[in-house]
Amino acid sequence: MELFINILLMIATFFLMEGVAWATHKYVMHGFLWCWHESHHRPRKGFFEKNDLFAVVFSIPSVATIIAGFEFENLAFLKWIGFGILGYGIFYVLFHDILVHRRVKIKFVARNPYLRRMIRAHKIHHKHLGKKGAEAFGFLYAPPKYAPKDVNEKVELE
Ligand SMILES: [Zn+2]
Ligand SMILES: [Zn+2]
Repeated sequence: MELFINILLMIATFFLMEGVAWATHKYVMHGFLWCWHESHHRPRKGFFEKNDLFAVVFSIPSVATIIAGFEFENLAFLKWIGFGILGYGIFYVLFHDILVHRRVKIKFVARNPYLRRMIRAHKIHHKHLGKKGAEAFGFLYAPPKYAPKDVNEKVELE
């Protein structure tokens, strides 16, 4: 039973993280930390960009809660929150960095409607080069209005 609750906690954290990431993207990255995020709205020189610092920052609560969860018996549940954040981080890299931005070269063409909608929404997000006026701030979820109208539409970023 305890394991079941802990797994639920991990899954809840994972989904909650999309909300946290969405809000951070909209209000912080396109807000006072645009100086970090701007690098992601410009052509990348080299493998890393200043925007990657956000991934480093988000790994801190994950590492901290996992360590605390293993270290303190009465705070054991914390590690499941940490695993949820870590899981989100893994999916963020897979979806955003690999599937959408192809930082690792793959030939995958998305056929799944959910993936196509998400990729297209992020492509629309990147049409905006400035701090203001952008839309579609989610990383793993995009509202139905971003679904491609045409089944043949190529959604992948070049
Ligand atoms: Zn952005
Ligand atoms: Zn992006």
